[in-house]
Amino acid sequence: MILLDGKGLSAKIKDELKNEMDAYVQTPILAVITIGNDEASKIYVNNKKKACEYVGMSFLHFNFSENEDETKIIKKIKQLNKDKNVNGIILQLPIPSKFNKNIIINTIDPLKDVDGLTNISQGKLINKEDSLVPCTPKGIMEIFKYYNIELEGKHVVIVGRSNLVSKPLLIECLNNNATVTICHSKTKNLSSYTKDADILVVAVGKKYLIDKSMIKKDSIIIDVGISREDNKIYGDVNPNVYDYCSMITPVPGGVGPMTVAMLLKNTFIAYKKQNGVVDINDILNKKDSK
Ligand code: NAP
Repeated sequence: MILLDGKGLSAKIKDELKNEMDAYVQTPILAVITIGNDEASKIYVNNKKKACEYVGMSFLHFNFSENEDETKIIKKIKQLNKDKNVNGIILQLPIPSKFNKNIIINTIDPLKDVDGLTNISQGKLINKEDSLVPCTPKGIMEIFKYYNIELEGKHVVIVGRSNLVSKPLLIECLNNNATVTICHSKTKNLSSYTKDADILVVAVGKKYLIDKSMIKKDSIIIDVGISREDNKIYGDVNPNVYDYCSMITPVPGGVGPMTVAMLLKNTFIAYKKQNGVVDINDILNKKDSK
């Protein structure tokens, strides 16, 4: 069995980004908005901050109390949209249910929507137009590419139907000629689908939902889920699959670090698009070719 080492691959991607960014004078800036005091979000935001610092990006964090008026949050996003120095904006999810997530997310300028969650970004993805692709599916596609995992003709089964992970991944897999099945909490006889998967992606958030009896021998498993118990992190897939599958992403150290690396990548893409910054390497290449 091969462990799909998202931690190692993300470190390589971050180093490449760091090197590429050295050629630019201005520093890209990512702004993160949090609402309330979700403990897991604090850890994720801190990881994002550390990753930004590592590659040389600036990181702004705006935390709003859960008693804050929604219009104030929207006003802040509008300010950030206008601020030419800010290149990427994300709303860290989840947010307290009293807020209208869709309205807040869709206030973000699609050019700065580095989580790829606005209606415009998601619509563009469906229509195969150039857009910022949500970070987790983008990270999973990078894992497929790096490990030469061919999607064409494969049956990909995705458990979960979120806009954040599963639906954009569905589109990406379809665009790469896979046959895709989506399962969710109302799916009857889940294992009849998971057992037929050449590639099984599980994005639910329930510790060990999937075990060895539910997978096909030598299948490839992407475990997206994260659950916390007694300060330990667990995936959605029981480790008893390890001697039965051909490849698997570990939890932690699989999809999680790739998500963060893709956030940096999207912010850098957004930065280049917004500023029309001329890449020194491009200038050198043009000079060489004269
Ligand atoms: P989500 O919005 O939390 O929704 C979970 C999905 O799982 C829903 O579609 C739900 O179905 C489905 N589900 C729940 N119980 C099920 C069951 N017993 N059988 C089959 N499906 C079931 O999804 P998400 O935002 O994609 O997050 C999923 C997990 O991935 C969470 O643990 C999250 O923390 C983790 N995550 C990890 C990363 C990373 O970088 N590693 C990034 C994002 C998310 P219904 O739609 O019918 O309710």
